[in-house]
Amino acid sequence: MGQISDRVMSLATSATFAMSQKSGELAAQGVDVINMSVGEPDFNTPDYVKKAAVQAIEENYSKYSPVPGYMSLRKAISAKLSRENGLEYAPEQILVSTGAKQAICNAILALVNPGAEVILPSPCWVSYPEMVKLAGGTPVVVKAGIDQDFKISASQLENAITPRTKVVMICSPSNPTGSVYSHGELAALAQVLKNHTEIYVISDEIYEHINFVGSHSSLAGFKEVADRVVVINGVSKAYAMTGWRIGFMAGPLWLVKACNKLQGQYTSGTCSVAQKAAEAAFNGPQDDVEMMRKVFNKRRDLIVSLAKEIPGFDVNMPQGAFYLFPKCDSYFGKRDGDRVINSAEDLAMYLLEVGHVATVGGTAFGAPECIRFSYATGEDKITEAFRRVKETLARLK
Ligand code: PMP
Ligand code: GLU
Repeated sequence: MGQISDRVMSLATSATFAMSQKSGELAAQGVDVINMSVGEPDFNTPDYVKKAAVQAIEENYSKYSPVPGYMSLRKAISAKLSRENGLEYAPEQILVSTGAKQAICNAILALVNPGAEVILPSPCWVSYPEMVKLAGGTPVVVKAGIDQDFKISASQLENAITPRTKVVMICSPSNPTGSVYSHGELAALAQVLKNHTEIYVISDEIYEHINFVGSHSSLAGFKEVADRVVVINGVSKAYAMTGWRIGFMAGPLWLVKACNKLQGQYTSGTCSVAQKAAEAAFNGPQDDVEMMRKVFNKRRDLIVSLAKEIPGFDVNMPQGAFYLFPKCDSYFGKRDGDRVINSAEDLAMYLLEVGHVATVGGTAFGAPECIRFSYATGEDKITEAFRRVKETLARLK
């Protein structure tokens, strides 16, 4: 143990991947587990994207790519941002990375000095606080409960700002809550940030296309803050391409250059073949994206109706992404024989071991009163999972 750096010792293991692994281990023992832990689309990557990858292999895209990504891909992303988001970024303002995850980590490492504060509206994705810690920064968690649809208000943001604040993270649609900030809510946040010109925004828009309320809004669309916003997005969720590992940032040129330097020493440009596939995804027909969005919308309706039938679950109406985040603390203190449920993690483990449904406890997302269900799985499985959840929880007295 003594050999491991303090930096790595202080990091938590990714709870999403940990629960998914546990679920996989049980399944390998022959248990029929329904995995609603990790968040990744259950669809296959669209055919036209796969064909582009095969073609790239045949055309010998086998050398290092430029560190920030192929110019043709950066142009495709620039066109996507203009076409879909009304945002104008030159290809030079775009850096392609190994997933949105690396794009976020690059931005944090390039902006945050030791001691700087990063405001994390919470519940938030498990990796944000750990990335901030990696940079030596201080996560400042601003909690929004289910009573406010898990979204922070402008006054909460204002109150969290100190002279040490460097970055605010915004994730909409949100993992783990599915909440979506409306244009008006973002306008109010932009108004606060207008007066704090030393603060940058990392806007994680990886669930942009899995949105059930119509159009997507980005803080980058508000002139008060636009030149201080780093847009994060990628192909993992919209095109069912989690394993291809392509994400990007779009932002101020000086920051993109800094991240280019960082990435050049750390990972180099990401996979050449996956970049060509992503280029096809952005440039090609977008029907598959819409088809998947519609399927997720139907599943959302199903899972919300099933969760409302579970005694003791309090649920919001998620407007995007593919997560449900019920408040479940009414079960804390209850028992099944010798087994006592004292936390969301106990409940998640109980549901896995007894009900054979894998979820993720809310503590790693900053909400110890909730558990997360990913509904990126078929309607039959969602229905069966909730039958099991209901039956299993009924045993707790
Ligand atoms: N941000 C959020 C909120 C996510 O849920 C994910 C999913 N892992 C990511 C970023 C990273 O996505 P990617 O697979 O592109 O690294
Ligand atoms: N974003 C997904 C999730 O939260 C994938 C796993 C991860 O990267 O944490 O489950």
